[in-house]
Amino acid sequence: MSVAEKGLAAEVLVEVEDVRKYFAVTGGVFSRPVGYVRAVDGVSFTVRRGETLGLVGESGCGKSTLGKVILRLVEPTGGKVTFEGRDIFALDRAQMRRQRREMQIVFQDPYASLNPRMTVGEIIGEPLGIHGVAHGAEKARRVQHLLEVVGLSPAHARRYPHEFSGGQRQRIGVARALALHPKLIICDEPVSALDVSIQSQILNLLSDLQKEFGLTYIFIAHGLAVVKHISDRVGVMYLGKLVELADKREMYDRPRHPYTEALMSAIPIPDPEARRERIVLEGDVPSPVNPPTGCRFHTRCRYAEAVCREVEPEFRDVGNNHLVACHLR
Ligand code: SF4
Repeated sequence: MSVAEKGLAAEVLVEVEDVRKYFAVTGGVFSRPVGYVRAVDGVSFTVRRGETLGLVGESGCGKSTLGKVILRLVEPTGGKVTFEGRDIFALDRAQMRRQRREMQIVFQDPYASLNPRMTVGEIIGEPLGIHGVAHGAEKARRVQHLLEVVGLSPAHARRYPHEFSGGQRQRIGVARALALHPKLIICDEPVSALDVSIQSQILNLLSDLQKEFGLTYIFIAHGLAVVKHISDRVGVMYLGKLVELADKREMYDRPRHPYTEALMSAIPIPDPEARRERIVLEGDVPSPVNPPTGCRFHTRCRYAEAVCREVEPEFRDVGNNHLVACHLR
């Protein structure tokens, strides 16, 4: 369902402009920087209020780092992020703390992201206390309500994370993210660690919560199958760069970038009679310390030509708000 079909204004909530994050690689006895991992290397896009933008790519493409940089859980190297027009990277510590109420994250691993020594009630109630939103009986009431909202029982507040299944723990993570009534939630591979049968329950929960609370999501995932139903638009990242971005229907009907084509060919087809050529990408993702010259995908692209090795393709609109970084498409 598109943003327009949802009846939501196509107003920009988040604008990401030329965002970069390089991590220093140190060496020698003095541990001096000898190079940089270019985890995110000049990414730009906008997210509209009420939409879900899916961000997809293999491990190491920079998608999770990008999510954390947008929230400033990781400090950026360069670029700009604005949220409702506010320059996020220019905020001081106290301003950023206040801003975080509106921008939350659900982490990938529901086993590692919940403190095992805290009760579920303490985990969900923690942000309410830190931000001075609610204390005592009011906090307990809100926690119980949040547990109900995510499909758990208020009685679960007294239990510890180890007493829950993976899917239930992810519901606890979602309740914690919802506690401060955020406008944006970055869902960082929230279903990757879960069984397939549980994945759809969590995806349905996130869809229902989006409708109920008017949430905006940036939904980070490994493959295109997971984001297909939940996203309004989809962006594909490769080696720190966005290589394709389009409305969902346009992306799944007419993928333009050869890397997206390969990811698309990996989606299982439900019809056993239907056949699709599986494009197997040769080789590993190159090192982000020394990314290939020209088009970063040229070392694995079956269409690569001489120009691809020398000139970096522009990320340009090829029609229908479909952006792609490829010389040949
Ligand atoms: Fe392949 Fe060249 Fe397009 Fe890069 S620019 S994706 S190497 S065809």
